[in-house]
Amino acid sequence: LFLSFEGIDGSGKSTQARMLADRLRDQGHDVVLTREPGGSPGAEEIRALVLQGDPDRWSAETEILLFTAARRDHLERTIRPALDRGAVVICDRFADSTRMYQGMSRGDLRKTVDDLHDLMIGVEPDLTLLIDMDPDRGLARAKSRQTIEERFEDFGAALQHKMRAGFLGLAGEFPGRYRIVDGDDTPENVADRVADVVAGHLPA
Ligand code: C5P
Repeated sequence: LFLSFEGIDGSGKSTQARMLADRLRDQGHDVVLTREPGGSPGAEEIRALVLQGDPDRWSAETEILLFTAARRDHLERTIRPALDRGAVVICDRFADSTRMYQGMSRGDLRKTVDDLHDLMIGVEPDLTLLIDMDPDRGLARAKSRQTIEERFEDFGAALQHKMRAGFLGLAGEFPGRYRIVDGDDTPENVADRVADVVAGHLPA
């Protein structure tokens, strides 16, 4: 079972991914908790290349190539082997984050992202949990951690609002695998909702 968490910065998705992993492990499931960009040694190196250092170092197109390369390595080295042995893979962000951040935040490059995805990745999660959050509340949280992306055309509040709308749009585009979970609550209450959604999909 391949699960992904998506959402804007500060939505709490990483916390939720961790809490779900803990719960499923407690129930005896073999769980691999991983993240993007990153999730394998090579992909973590690419993550550092893009997210650290000069925000203008890479063009938007090069960034798409780098993140797709990172995803390919992550898929080959971490995700596929885990799925092949029957593990539950929980991924904090996957291709939908690239569809949003690289596809929407420096011009309209969504088709480029999708074309490369079809060519080089070709898989989607079985289930994607969108942790939905008020963009301004998410921004306040993300700012306190300094994870706001200054390399994008519009960063800060404008980016948060655009990404929130974008993720809700993706949920409409892929209704089969998307579930929207209200993230505006205590971590424990959100985790309960997430667990309810996932329960019906678990391997016996
Ligand atoms: O989810 P996480 O906090 O690890 O993401 C790190 C940063 O990378 C975030 O600020 C996010 O907006 C950005 N990001 C990105 N493109 C992606 C995935 C994440 O710019 N495809």
